[in-house]
Amino acid sequence: IVDVRGIHKSFGAHPVLRGIDLQVRAGEVTVVIGPSGSGKSTLLRAINHLEKPNRGSVSIDGELIGYRRRGDKLYELKEREILRRRTRIGFVFQNFHLFPHLTVVENIVEAPISALRRPSGEARERAHALLARVGLSDKADAYPRQLSGGQQQRVAIARALALDPQVLLFDEPTSALDPELVGEVLDVIKDVARAGTTMIVVTHEIGFAREVADTVVFMDDGVVVEQGPPGDVLDHPRHERTKAFLSKVL
Ligand code: ATP
Ligand code: MG
Repeated sequence: IVDVRGIHKSFGAHPVLRGIDLQVRAGEVTVVIGPSGSGKSTLLRAINHLEKPNRGSVSIDGELIGYRRRGDKLYELKEREILRRRTRIGFVFQNFHLFPHLTVVENIVEAPISALRRPSGEARERAHALLARVGLSDKADAYPRQLSGGQQQRVAIARALALDPQVLLFDEPTSALDPELVGEVLDVIKDVARAGTTMIVVTHEIGFAREVADTVVFMDDGVVVEQGPPGDVLDHPRHERTKAFLSKVL
């Protein structure tokens, strides 16, 4: 469903992604691990077209995200159309990125109403159902600052799900949290994964990867060094760089 082909991205003279290929099948969970600076966030941002790749393409369910194909040439899409296509991809950030001046329920209904033109009553009903799912039914009218980090992140997950994305991207969703709050967020992500949502999760939580991932991808220095089932990549890595990284994080 997600097809990343030959993505290259440089910032100035500094190449950050040097030819990334990644395929994720419907309903599967891919966990991306790798050292700081290896390009993991840039890859997620490129998938979402928040970062425009210098080369390569991303398609979701056969549809290119930032471009239109005519013959064998690619044309950049208009911002509006990119925004529309981007609603197929949910994004959960390390620092939650909730709108501080909106309540929890308003945060969740904002995009469905403005981007998908859903009727407000319907969007609110759905938001309450999603809040129940992430265990926050009693916080609908709270403001983000009144919530713990773990609760804010669960709201961010509910907000991403409200767009019924075809794929959900997580960029280190628990690394800004106090240790005692990590578990509640991972439990929600596991739950969403079990419900069959296709997702790509960048995380340093190796236990989570072992339990939930169908595929683990190890990135270093802008390339995919190795990928495979967690039992292979985490327990029997083939490359020295993977071994060295795992010996540090395990
Ligand atoms: P971390 O584990 O620390 O989050 P990462 O694997 O997510 O690291 P990226 O954030 O993708 O790494 O960054 C990869 C490299 O790209 C880094 O060297 C970073 O300094 C550089 N970089 C990222 N974004 C930009 C930008 N907008 N402008 C210039 N350089 C950037
Ligand atoms: Mg990052």
